[in-house]
Amino acid sequence: MVSFASRFGVYVHFPYCLSKCPYCDFASVVAAEVPHARYRDAVARELALRASEHGRPAGGVESLYFGGGTPSLWDPACVASTIETVDRLFGIAPGCEITLEANPGASDAARFGALRSAGVNRLSIGVQSFEPAILAGLGRQHSPEEAVAALRSARAAGIDNLSLDLIFGGPGQTPAMARADVERAIALGPEHLSCYGLTLEGLAEEVRLAKDVKRGRVQVPDDAAQAEMGELVREALAAAGYERYEISNYAKAGRESRHNSLYWLGREYVAAGCGAHGFRRTAGGGGYRYGNPRKPEAYLAAAEAGGAPEVERDTISPAELFEERIFLGLRLTAGFDLEAAARETVGALPAEMERRLAKLVAQGLVVREGSSLRCTERGLDYHTEVAVQLLPDETVALPVVG
Ligand code: SF4
Repeated sequence: MVSFASRFGVYVHFPYCLSKCPYCDFASVVAAEVPHARYRDAVARELALRASEHGRPAGGVESLYFGGGTPSLWDPACVASTIETVDRLFGIAPGCEITLEANPGASDAARFGALRSAGVNRLSIGVQSFEPAILAGLGRQHSPEEAVAALRSARAAGIDNLSLDLIFGGPGQTPAMARADVERAIALGPEHLSCYGLTLEGLAEEVRLAKDVKRGRVQVPDDAAQAEMGELVREALAAAGYERYEISNYAKAGRESRHNSLYWLGREYVAAGCGAHGFRRTAGGGGYRYGNPRKPEAYLAAAEAGGAPEVERDTISPAELFEERIFLGLRLTAGFDLEAAARETVGALPAEMERRLAKLVAQGLVVREGSSLRCTERGLDYHTEVAVQLLPDETVALPVVG
């Protein structure tokens, strides 16, 4: 159960990395020299523009998320300045969750101490695996020892809300290795874990690892092996007291990611930085989403020219937004308020949806409880198919978030 999803959040993307991982389709680059202050100033300019468009949210910002790229590479003074900018423009609510993604290769104790002093109160550490061969297959530059050291440094810096990212299904990984990874992660006692199966389809088809697999140069576990790994991961986490609150996310009680929960529940967020996507609702039940240039130089030049540095702005109709709410809400194990989602977008639950719902309920894939709808355990395994069967036109454009 999501104990508290932010009602309004701000996402800041930092695109620079120490090296490019071969499975990565994020807006990320390796730069000989990171333009720390220039990037800070560009983000501040964009945030000011977004604030004038959006206004100051009632209740302020309840989650601020620094994603990447590798934002733990950013000079902590620039992170501090960006937090101050967000506070000045939007107002940071008391108890705001301020998360920063950290790479074990850019995670020394002094850096974490400075980030904590700047206001960061949650770190999401990209461990991915504790097995050197698996890390090498994923192209990660850090060692298992560095991952453990990063966690210890975070604790020593006073961060009491830690999330670890694991990937299963990488080259050469067996189900037993996936299980050993999650057990090592549990032993470190993070409050939250994100465990994603490696994806080399859809948006990720163009990444280097996907091409190597297609050409037969690299082998990854097949779907059945990846499904077995998923099951082992779920079992181990449940036994250790982590609740699966979203398809791929697990938390100790009250430690669900507030920021990601706002995506899953269709709340609004402002986004700034290279490759970032923001979302705002509009009167009448629809909304719009904007996306910034993925290349840092293009982003910096556009922000410095003074305009909104975006390359896309899509209007979302009430019907499309309703479809998104269904698709994303069904990712949560507790589900979402289907009738409220219909009221806020298309006005009321479409009558013909009742027939589709009844069929899915009869198949044991979803459960209706009052006005809410959720997938069963089995339904979660077929989440996309379940959502698509429910939608009026049986098509869904997957939303880009963050
Ligand atoms: S560290 Fe993360 S963002 Fe950077 S290249 Fe690797 S996967 Fe992509």
